[in-house]
Amino acid sequence: MDIINPATESIITTVTEDTEASIQQKYQSLKSGQRLWKAVSIEKRIAAIENFYLLLDKNKDELANTLSNEMGKPLQQSYNELNGARNRIQFFIENSARYLAEEWITTEGATKEKTVFEPLGVIANISAWNYPYLVGVNVFIPALIAGNTVLYKPSEFTTLTGLHIERLLHEGGVPENCFQSVIGKGNVGEHLLQLPLDGYFFTGSYKTGKYIAEKVAGKLVPCQLELGGKDPLYVMDDVADIAITAANVLEGVVYNNGQSCCAVERVYVQEKVYDAFVAAYVSACKKLQMGNPMQKGIDIGPLARKEQQEFLSAQIKDATDKGATLLCGGNVPEGKGYFMEPAVLVNVNHTMAIMKEESFGPIIGIQKVTDDAEAIALMQDTDYGLTASIYSTDFNRAEKVMQQMNSGSVYWNCCDRVSATLPWSGRQHSGLGSTLSYQGIRAFVHPKAYHIRG
Ligand code: NAD
Repeated sequence: MDIINPATESIITTVTEDTEASIQQKYQSLKSGQRLWKAVSIEKRIAAIENFYLLLDKNKDELANTLSNEMGKPLQQSYNELNGARNRIQFFIENSARYLAEEWITTEGATKEKTVFEPLGVIANISAWNYPYLVGVNVFIPALIAGNTVLYKPSEFTTLTGLHIERLLHEGGVPENCFQSVIGKGNVGEHLLQLPLDGYFFTGSYKTGKYIAEKVAGKLVPCQLELGGKDPLYVMDDVADIAITAANVLEGVVYNNGQSCCAVERVYVQEKVYDAFVAAYVSACKKLQMGNPMQKGIDIGPLARKEQQEFLSAQIKDATDKGATLLCGGNVPEGKGYFMEPAVLVNVNHTMAIMKEESFGPIIGIQKVTDDAEAIALMQDTDYGLTASIYSTDFNRAEKVMQQMNSGSVYWNCCDRVSATLPWSGRQHSGLGSTLSYQGIRAFVHPKAYHIRG
């Protein structure tokens, strides 16, 4: 399989894909490894993860370069991702032991009771390319600490990063038969669905997630899904500073070239501040620098996948055909690389794909609303439910809107944010189950109830 640099379209290297037979072998070794790994003390398992944490920092230049080269995010954002991943690992290092310790429930009387948390076994971690470190550590770190072994399928668009992760985990002291990567595209990932694995932890699109959930349903093992979104953001008429708000929203839209599961995907602005907001947003958007992600000062790199140029152009055309106005951007520049100028559309409505379907790129539709009731109705007019954001100075007013959002996260005066201490979860087409927080630690264990008499 060729690994392509999306900024230059040159081949970085070629890797060998896994086969059904090699995956079967990896599974067998993880199965025998799991029997030993679960018997290793949690302190020793955490010590190996601490080594990995240090190795991520020690190797950060190589890791950041690889990530930006194979997936196209601006180099500084690769460093930011590595830092963010290390913060999450720190959370797991500091908190896993207490959430996985046995819990005595009844200590008096004839029958004593306690809950013990046991690892699931060998789990699949099928992962996405947009934040390979962040979405990866959400799964394989708590899974390993809890005593599971992991068959890790990095996305084909971040294969080299996946191989770095595997190498550094082994170097840190996670035995080879406890963590194995599977290299290849979706057809290779498909083999994982045939194996008798003890859990499936998937990060990716709704379409693939739904397919995987249906395919493994008969196994009756945990299947957790972190999927896409069409996350709304609402600017109320009492915002303190329009320019600061617009700059904040723009970052939520275009960070990581708009390829974030919780990117701002549609904006609603109350009519009193609408014109000022749009002017400030467009002015800030026009200042963004697009170019090779390895160069300093670049805000927008190439999209990770070539087909996204066509997909985003089609969303823009669908909107303008239906009456939207394109205020800036939206061009695919001539020459090499999968670039797409950040775009702003107004006069949009919910008949247009750009307001209903996940874009996953640096384009946005901004719609005018009259009041909170209209904003709530539009924000909730979606099949997704990952995050929703409100900008205003009045927390009580914003909270009334937040309470009505059917989404896993809500934000007041911030957006596009994930915290290790809070559960990360989507509703409806955005997913099932939680990662991060204590819930994201307990996701990798079975509770066992002890009834002890005598
Ligand atoms: P994708 O669904 O195309 O692929 C995800 C993974 O599934 C890849 O590793 C791919 O090789 C594998 N895969 C594809 N077909 C398969 C099959 N039949 N069997 C087994 N594995 C298969 O998604 P993507 O393009 O990598 O990621 C982008 C999507 O992920 C976006 O929708 C984004 O919103 C979402 N995402 C969600 C979160 C979250 O936390 N909710 C985080 C990051 C990304």
